[in-house]
Amino acid sequence: MGRVPHITPDAASDAATSDAAPTRNATTHPAAPTHGTRAGGVGQGVVRARGLSKRYGDFTAVDGIDFEVQPGESFGFLGPNGAGKSTTMSMIGGVSTRSDGELTVMGLDPDREGPRVRAHLGVVPQQDNLDEEIRVRDNLFVYGRYFGLKRSYLKDKIGELLEFAQLTDKANARVDALSGGMKRRLTIARSLVNDPQILLLDEPTTGLDPQARHILWDRLFRLKEQGTTLLVTTHFMDEAEQLCDRLIVVDNGRIMAEGSPAQLIRDYSTREVLEVRFGSDANRAAAAELAGLGERQEVLADRVLVYADDGEAALAQVLARGLTPVASLVRRSSLEDVFLHLTGRSLVD
Ligand code: ADP
Repeated sequence: MGRVPHITPDAASDAATSDAAPTRNATTHPAAPTHGTRAGGVGQGVVRARGLSKRYGDFTAVDGIDFEVQPGESFGFLGPNGAGKSTTMSMIGGVSTRSDGELTVMGLDPDREGPRVRAHLGVVPQQDNLDEEIRVRDNLFVYGRYFGLKRSYLKDKIGELLEFAQLTDKANARVDALSGGMKRRLTIARSLVNDPQILLLDEPTTGLDPQARHILWDRLFRLKEQGTTLLVTTHFMDEAEQLCDRLIVVDNGRIMAEGSPAQLIRDYSTREVLEVRFGSDANRAAAAELAGLGERQEVLADRVLVYADDGEAALAQVLARGLTPVASLVRRSSLEDVFLHLTGRSLVD
């Protein structure tokens, strides 16, 4: 993964003046309908890209992609490491200029109007870049002041954000005493200090344990319910399925497919998948015997995947052919299967 966008002090110029709190709802995140009627205009995507490209010398990291994110939507960029997800986020955040194409955020050009764009954004970078040696509360305070927000505004706001992040009882703890999940929630709380309409989340749960991930997803879901538009990059199919209303599958800087998780699975996979294992080195030979079974098959190093709407029926046919897998599993198709079908590779190497 590449660099991550971050807010620079000039973002404050539109977020608020040094003497005034933001004009948006200062007590909580605004309701969904207000988002679509602001700078982006009614019926327009809050983020729109046409032919968006980024080149580093001869190398093309983002290769002419088109997408449009609607207000209040949770929109995902799903793809493996190196697909160009962070680069796209950086261009949206106005911290990396595009090489080609069009890009607007709330109707504004991030390259020309970076501070105004960043005033609408909250940014959660892939790596928590909190100040480890100061208290949780002070991290939010310092960031808010850096953003030019008034002390009196921050006093109330910080209490609200700590509650949202379920960190009220940690307000006076040093950051280096927090768990990974707590740090992530604090980073998210920090990104919300200016009441952004759009939140950019770069690999939000990478490195977290399952319980911490679920807590984080719950918090993000609440933000979405409150109307915040979420842009999420991830290489986790379960995260994309949990968080995203709609997503683009990206690989090598290009869009391979676009749709809701359910729609992508319908379009690019079968309802069920039969996984059969024949033991080391035996899978490829066994796969030859499975010819014609299901709609299609994928042979992986450790197993054969048979794509069929009825996985149990497919398993019965495997056994009827006299084959005896050492293990079998019938499961529903996932975005991992979609990715495999589209690229011939597994999403997580
Ligand atoms: P992802 O977020 O999907 O993992 P990135 O956007 O970080 O992918 O990177 C896309 C590609 O661009 C990768 O091959 C990466 O090595 C390359 N890349 C990213 N930043 C730079 C840079 N500053 N200079 C050269 N290549 C870069």
